[in-house]
Amino acid sequence: PFQNVGFIGLGNMGFRMANNLIKAGYKIAVHDINSNALKAFSDMGIVTKETPFEIGEVSDVVITMLPSSSHVTDVYTGPNGLLQSGNVLRPWLMIDSSTIDPQTSRKLSFTISECMLKEKKGHQETPVMLDAPVSGGVLAAEAGTLTFMVGGPEEAYLAAKPLFHSMGKNTVYCGGAGNGSAAKICNNLAMAISMLGVSEALSLGQSLGIDASTLTKVFNSSSARCWSSDTYNPVPGVMEGVPSSRNYDGGFATKLMAKDLNLAATSAKEVGHNSPFTYQAQQIYTDLCQDGHETKDFSCVFRHYYSGKDE
Ligand code: NAD
Repeated sequence: PFQNVGFIGLGNMGFRMANNLIKAGYKIAVHDINSNALKAFSDMGIVTKETPFEIGEVSDVVITMLPSSSHVTDVYTGPNGLLQSGNVLRPWLMIDSSTIDPQTSRKLSFTISECMLKEKKGHQETPVMLDAPVSGGVLAAEAGTLTFMVGGPEEAYLAAKPLFHSMGKNTVYCGGAGNGSAAKICNNLAMAISMLGVSEALSLGQSLGIDASTLTKVFNSSSARCWSSDTYNPVPGVMEGVPSSRNYDGGFATKLMAKDLNLAATSAKEVGHNSPFTYQAQQIYTDLCQDGHETKDFSCVFRHYYSGKDE
């Protein structure tokens, strides 16, 4: 039932994800507020639309890949949004792959079922929403190797699996609405804290006279081994092919990490969770952005926070 896929948000990630759907043979229509992004698709002969509402009119499934919660809310419930009153609600499935807070994902999912009740269009299938944020950056989006963590009705998840597999390698079903978004921000929170921990320990080691390569060897054959030590080491020269060995260029930008930590901190506050590391990590990454390192990879915390070399 889903040959026609609408895609909204053709930025660093969405552009590549939409291209993989085209390669997989789906009939795509796209929208973005940036006309250059649209032109790249119209030049390829792909249908482009001026508003989310118009995307809804021609799509069975709509995928959104937008910067943050406010943009997602706008695209769904704003003027000319997907859910604009009077829309026939043709899409039976809406998938939001943006990284946003679980509360917004849940609210939107609820709004969609409410909307449907009001419209009473007698569809055979009631439209549903999945929150399906991704892990893996631009390179994984390009290669079609993203991981999708998915919240929402399980039948919808199963039906959407072929779509996810056109853009990614792994999918994990996380439970009801909002659980995909919760999984994403918790994953990035743990990643930030492990990066801070490894950076702090390697830096202290240096101050105590052990060089970072030797200490990394110890970590990687001991209990401190983790992704931040053995795959994405933050110390220049310890590993090849990682951002720390190319002036912290490329990779996962500090400003995106700060954004995700803000989501984690806001969510922790909302549920009254005791999260001291979350607030500390949020502060460190916010400071890094304010100091002008927002476009550098997030492992630059080693150079700019711990080793004090502000180059
Ligand atoms: P981006 O800023 O490059 O792209 C966002 C796109 O959305 C832009 O093209 C923008 O013009 C468009 N847009 C903004 N508001 C819009 C609106 N109202 N209507 C239509 N289009 C609109 O962002 P990105 O790097 O592609 O990331 C998208 C999402 O994926 C974010 O939530 C981000 O946190 C998450 N994410 C990013 C990465 C990464 O490495 N870049 C990795 C995992 C997850």
